[in-house]
Amino acid sequence: MASSEQMAVIIKDDEGNQNDATMYYIVYSAADRTKRSAISLVGCWIAAVVALPIPVAHLVLVPGFFIAGPVLAYFRLKMSESKEKVVGVCPRHNAEITIKLENTDTIPKYTYCPDCKGAIQIVEKGE
Ligand SMILES: [Zn+2]
Repeated sequence: MASSEQMAVIIKDDEGNQNDATMYYIVYSAADRTKRSAISLVGCWIAAVVALPIPVAHLVLVPGFFIAGPVLAYFRLKMSESKEKVVGVCPRHNAEITIKLENTDTIPKYTYCPDCKGAIQIVEKGE
């Protein structure tokens, strides 16, 4: 089963100020990964079948979805965790912020504060 996990991280700015923060992420079990992978494969192939009667567009959509299915399924199978967000206090303007993360983001990560647009860095605690 997918489980929500938390990890302690630090938000730093380039002047040496830093605050503790928490990163939230989801960890997928082997069964979850297989299920997510199968759903994306079947979903793409259903989309390919649905696109069949569309004139002209089916020339691109049908092979596109047909190929995208196994490719997407492969990446879903390989993805063991999904990063969600970092919640903490911005060291620049000292207010609580939530930074959305992409699945491909890695820590340490350079980013910008969503409120004050200042450059900040997210690093693992204890580094
Ligand atoms: Zn800020």
